[in-house]
Amino acid sequence: MTVGDASESAGKARETPATGFPRHEQTFPSLTSAEIARMRRFGDVRTFRDGECLFQTGKPGPGMFVVLSGNVAITQRDGLGHITPVIDQGPGQFLAEIGQLSGRVALVDGHAKGDVETLLIPPEKLRALLVAEADLGERIMRALILRRVNLIQAGVGGPVLIGPSNSTSVAGLQNFLIRNGFPHHLLDPEKDHDAAEMIARYSPSPSDWPLVVTIDGTVLRNPEERQLARALGMIGGPRGEKIYDVAIVGCGPAGLATAVYAASEGLAVAVLDSRAFGGQAGASARIENYLGFPTGISGQALAGRAFTQAQKFGADMMIPMGAKSLDCTRKDGAFALSLDGGDELRSRAVVVASGARYRRPKIENLAKFEGRGVWYWASPVEARLCADQEVALVGGGNSAGQAAVFLSGHARKVLMIIRGGGLAASMSRYLIERIEATPNIELMFNAEVVALSGDDRSLERVRWRSRLSGAQETADIRNLFLFVGADPATGWLEGCGVTLDRGGFVVTGAQSDLNLGRPVSALETSVPGVYAVGDVRSGSVKRVGGAIGEGAQVVAALHGFLGDAKAAL
Ligand SMILES: Cc1cc2nc3c(=O)[nH]c(=O)nc-3n(C[C@H](O)[C@H](O)[C@H](O)COP(=O)(O)OP(=O)(O)OC[C@H]3O[C@@H](n4cnc5c(N)ncnc54)[C@H](O)[C@@H]3O)c2cc1C
Repeated sequence: MTVGDASESAGKARETPATGFPRHEQTFPSLTSAEIARMRRFGDVRTFRDGECLFQTGKPGPGMFVVLSGNVAITQRDGLGHITPVIDQGPGQFLAEIGQLSGRVALVDGHAKGDVETLLIPPEKLRALLVAEADLGERIMRALILRRVNLIQAGVGGPVLIGPSNSTSVAGLQNFLIRNGFPHHLLDPEKDHDAAEMIARYSPSPSDWPLVVTIDGTVLRNPEERQLARALGMIGGPRGEKIYDVAIVGCGPAGLATAVYAASEGLAVAVLDSRAFGGQAGASARIENYLGFPTGISGQALAGRAFTQAQKFGADMMIPMGAKSLDCTRKDGAFALSLDGGDELRSRAVVVASGARYRRPKIENLAKFEGRGVWYWASPVEARLCADQEVALVGGGNSAGQAAVFLSGHARKVLMIIRGGGLAASMSRYLIERIEATPNIELMFNAEVVALSGDDRSLERVRWRSRLSGAQETADIRNLFLFVGADPATGWLEGCGVTLDRGGFVVTGAQSDLNLGRPVSALETSVPGVYAVGDVRSGSVKRVGGAIGEGAQVVAALHGFLGDAKAAL
């Protein structure tokens, strides 16, 4: 289904530029002729006639263009046909944003204004330039990041989501795009003329929210995350016959650290994640104990930097893409991962960094309301749904405490429901003090949520039970946050020979029965060539710092294994 020319607004140009650029000098720097001369060895000269297209929204970008002469008009276009001027770039300026590091789809259009001569630097050469030319590379990299940030903040360059801003399914899809750093724009039919027009035309039922209009005008009704990712060209990386040195399953802190260190040391790296980069840490509103960030940093910001860094060193990021199983028979010396959608990925070594999945306590109707009022994380998207409401939050650990403090800034009241009789044993002192000092957080000890109810679309009521008296209470609560820990995500390793402990975590080093008598690295599993890092590993510390440290450490073991395998050929 496409919008086609039926949308009256199609093709209409908006007069005003899309954005003001807060750090203009850094976002659109000019290169000197000496700098351009140094860049020439990385690219080829390409010329364009007046009006010709250099790159097009929604189509894979050919790389970074440096303008040698003439001018290029950059415009933004959405699936509803709105075209908005962004900026003109002239001699000495360059055209790219962060997606060009890996040849992802362009998020803006570029057209020659008069005849134009450029230097085109393709993605792999662009990455080489950033590494080889440190000072120049830093300026270019900063500009590429700021440009993406601008696109995200302006909400343009990606799909248009149409639906009520207080709808939980709209929030779910928005959260997916935000977690993946992909720009999008939300139009509420109650406030926006174009959105109302689309509603009149497609008459969606409430279960169709949101309508998603992609750049080419295709209209999707409440698509699944992977369907949307495919439609937007988000999933990158060559596969096919390529055999990687290492496949990393999981793109949380442990997988990201492995990717950065392995790729920067010259290994061919593929990274998979079934949902988004950042893992559990990506759900943390503020990480305060990670070295070097005295004022704290949001998990999304920390992971976003690492994600960009891994791409700079050439890691192929395939997200969202889950590993379904691992074949360790090593035909032709390579492991085989079977992926969502039936694809296969082959690599000489594998790093298991699949972390943990949120635990689902026994609560009546829990599954029915997941993503419709039941949340396992608390980001600004969910916080918006809680404005001036009473919300409930289950859990007594640090992640629960962080979330409660964050939500207390948005909700009228946060009711914390805790199984135990206190917080001291499970939560850091600084968080307990913060909670005690926050008047709209109410603590309820010795209690557990037992049932949820509502209509087909959203949660309306939460029932809980006192563990002391057995008495039950129900309250009108439309948003329930669960922070009750996580179980290891190791189902995909079933049958491949990797030893798991009783809790399902991956056993590494001499701990594994199968490894006794064999000299092994501390992070190697019972299958030579398969390593485990971060929360998924038995005995790991379950902290961002620990996961990142293990990601750095495993790379030495990878070099050793790959070196031995090569020598044995
Ligand atoms: C809300 C919250 C707040 C936190 N705050 C802090 C804090 O302040 N300080 C601190 O030190 N720690 C904190 N933690 C803990 C910290 O986030 C974790 O220790 C850390 O994220 C572990 O990193 P990891 O890479 O090992 O695993 P994870 O972060 O769990 O990442 C694993 C990734 O693997 C992916 N995956 C799983 N299975 C598959 C599969 N089959 N195929 C492909 N991909 C798969 C998942 O989608 C996920 O993205 C917090 C955790 C939470 C939930």
